[in-house]
Amino acid sequence: MAFAITQTCCADASCVSVCPVNCIHPAPGEPDFGRTEMLYIDPGTCIDCGACADACPVDAIFPAGDLTGPPRAYVEINAEYYAGQDVLAQASVAPNFHRWAPPAFPRVLPSDFAPLDVAVVGTGPAGMYAVEDLLLHTDSRVTLVDRLPVAGGLVRYGVAPDHPSTKKIGETFARFLDHPRLKLRLGTGIGAARDLAGRHDAVIYAVGATEARRLGIPGEDLPGSLPAAAVVGWYNGHPDLASVDLSAERVVVVGAGNVALDIARILTAGPDALAGTEIAPAALAALRSGKVREVVLLARRGPETAAYTRPELLALAARPDVGLVVDAHDARIAAAIDGAEPGDKAALLRELPREAVDWSSPPPDGRRIVLRFHSSPLAVCGDTEVRGVRASGPAGDVEITAGRVVRAAGFRGAPLPGLPFDDDSGTVPNTAGRVEGRPGTYVAGWIKRGPSGGIGANKACARETVGALLEDAVAGRLPARRRRARLTAKLLRRA
Ligand code: SF4
Repeated sequence: MAFAITQTCCADASCVSVCPVNCIHPAPGEPDFGRTEMLYIDPGTCIDCGACADACPVDAIFPAGDLTGPPRAYVEINAEYYAGQDVLAQASVAPNFHRWAPPAFPRVLPSDFAPLDVAVVGTGPAGMYAVEDLLLHTDSRVTLVDRLPVAGGLVRYGVAPDHPSTKKIGETFARFLDHPRLKLRLGTGIGAARDLAGRHDAVIYAVGATEARRLGIPGEDLPGSLPAAAVVGWYNGHPDLASVDLSAERVVVVGAGNVALDIARILTAGPDALAGTEIAPAALAALRSGKVREVVLLARRGPETAAYTRPELLALAARPDVGLVVDAHDARIAAAIDGAEPGDKAALLRELPREAVDWSSPPPDGRRIVLRFHSSPLAVCGDTEVRGVRASGPAGDVEITAGRVVRAAGFRGAPLPGLPFDDDSGTVPNTAGRVEGRPGTYVAGWIKRGPSGGIGANKACARETVGALLEDAVAGRLPARRRRARLTAKLLRRA
């Protein structure tokens, strides 16, 4: 029986290169790579060797025969990807689909080329994939900088504590932190990082997208209305973030992406279930004494195009301790769920109870998460603090009474001193990672491409940036001033 990839897939494709029969797709270079929720193993081609399971940095791959209970669904999910593919057509647009690709050699600088000194700002996934590429494929010396006193970025402060397999990728990154060609500078702000530019051939900024996207509705800044990052950082022990008041029985989360699902899951989890995880002790204590019984996920889209991924919804639906309910306020919701084909996103909701929720009443006993589709937030209500959210619906607006609102409508990058910034996309304008008009300066990750894709998507992104940097180095496009100054200093030291 074949192996199957499961919920925690980070899609960084570490498994693809070790598969002896090329049966894990979409692979880097194929049209779908970076666009699917995860990677999939073709059960018809897999020879059961287990190499991919050994290579997976997040323990997402198992023999299909070992999967029982809710994870068993991934046997079908893997197979479905191939059942829906016209393999011959796919092979014509992606030449390595089920065939050997032309050999790819790691990029190296010419042997007579002096080692580069590169500063990487940010210790999250994009920064660490860039570090990995530079250290493994060149003889560059790397100065790795982070403004926080602990390395890890999004893996440490963004991944939910009840996803230990996903957090495990941090161990893969951590092995580079004591590499002999790496200097680690923690607690170094962007200002000090900019000073590094004069002492390095190139600087890669991989600082992520840290700002919350605004909802643009009245009341969103009322006390009790929080950006998602404040909640996620709080339960992960981010040093900059204050505690979150959990005295409300109902919390509305605006948004239904994976971050919104994470927040809903943690706020409704039994504290004992989180006790053995990496959750911040203060957050665990607050959850123990908190009153939250219901989290409402407010989604503009319908169930067929919801922003969450199927693996995250499956994980939520599988929890025995928390109810998951669909608010049946709009006939389109039932139509989408009942009419969904197997494999469609909406089909995952078929077994869930549907309920016309009375939002003026307190939540029922027990803990539950309510999915309210086709509903936009119109205002955060309250005079001096949050009292609820006014949301749209086909029968007119409704006020959902709630003591806390979490705004999980997405992230955007923040401007970096001295670098151009595109306010519309919240990114630094760049071409393949090269910052426009700033030779020797590069970006990787969400500050480069916007907040899309999971951890693994940063691997290809960082690789493209490092490739551009190496190309520029070989072509003599790095600022000559820096390189000459360093070489002169080196020669003087030798004299
Ligand atoms: Fe490929 Fe072996 Fe993994 Fe099957 S078990 S997908 S053959 S690496």
